[in-house]
Amino acid sequence: MPDKFIPYGRQCIEDDDIEAVVEILKSDWLTTGPKVSEFEDKFCSFAGSQYAVAVSSGTAALHCAAFAAGIKPGDEVIVTPMTFAATANVVLYQGGIPVFADIEPDTLLIDPEVVRQKITSRTRAIICMDYGGQPCDYDELKAISTENKLILIADSCHSADASYKHTPTGTLADITAFSFHPVKHITTGEGGMVTTNNPDFAERARRFRNHGITTDHRQRSEAGTWYYQMIDLGFNYRISDFQCALGMSQLKKLKKWVDRRNEIAARYNRGLSGIEGLKILRTKPDRLHSFHLYVVKIKATEFGMNRNELFNFMRKNQVGVNVHYVPVHLHPFYRKTLGTEPGMCPVAEETYEDILSLPMYPTMTDEDVEYVIKTIWKAKRKA
Ligand SMILES: *Cc1c(COP(=O)(O)O)cnc(C)c1O
Repeated sequence: MPDKFIPYGRQCIEDDDIEAVVEILKSDWLTTGPKVSEFEDKFCSFAGSQYAVAVSSGTAALHCAAFAAGIKPGDEVIVTPMTFAATANVVLYQGGIPVFADIEPDTLLIDPEVVRQKITSRTRAIICMDYGGQPCDYDELKAISTENKLILIADSCHSADASYKHTPTGTLADITAFSFHPVKHITTGEGGMVTTNNPDFAERARRFRNHGITTDHRQRSEAGTWYYQMIDLGFNYRISDFQCALGMSQLKKLKKWVDRRNEIAARYNRGLSGIEGLKILRTKPDRLHSFHLYVVKIKATEFGMNRNELFNFMRKNQVGVNVHYVPVHLHPFYRKTLGTEPGMCPVAEETYEDILSLPMYPTMTDEDVEYVIKTIWKAKRKA
């Protein structure tokens, strides 16, 4: 057994990252300074988008997207149940109604056919999520949005640097949200980004980040004026300059880290093939996966142990497996507020019983990966 616990995800902070932050701590601007727009510009060129708005978290990015999309009380928004609660919560923040559309069992991505069935005259938007780091079926989702005059929002918190038919995440939907939480591909501690090619959406997101005020502190300082107007009810979703300095430093390493994640995934694929009752998720051929998560499905009857038993076995053996996610519509808050219940998304509910996320982060060594594989084989032999 290794002397250390192998977590399911972990940040990588190196000396140059630390130096970048310290430099800004000594500068004039701790927040709303030049690093914020530098980070936004860098992120635009990386994601291929025309606009980027840096915010305080991935959740804030999703909320800005929901606001920019004009989601208002009574609007229905179609969302995936197989996601972190924030994806659907932002619809509720706007007074909208999340409508859950079931997923495909082999990719865990929202099923475009089910999305179609959920559209009503009150539907305003779709929020899809690139589960695990694999982009959704954007051609289909875009066609549905266009036909029905809906706005397509991508929760790409799992999929920085992934691509769909050679287009990187960031412009595949009308508005995209990214997260820089420490378990994500790059980190700013807490942080997020909104990307879009639509200037109105960008402007609305930018205002929403700063209380709905038309100019920020630095713009007024440079223009030598004190006057400002608040024209929307926004929030304080600003991110600091030292976080953006960290983000710029991390962004340089993103490609290298995503390559490493793909190497680890390939190693898992090889090492876990042939285990009866263990299935790996399918990656569709027209897209590049960025492996925020590496998820396997455990069929209890064939594996000989159910997911919960395997979870406990792995944790006892120092492997930090996890489960992503409890379907959002099953959370007590949703059941109480929206009246959602088991049976509404049968594929997501069934899949939830079987899924297990294995450790996946770029600084994992080959030995760590081999140890995880070996431990699963050991569980299988014991079962
Ligand atoms: C991480 C994550 C979020 C929220 O991001 P925060 O930065 O933690 O607010 C939203 N959606 C998904 C799918 C995520 O993985």
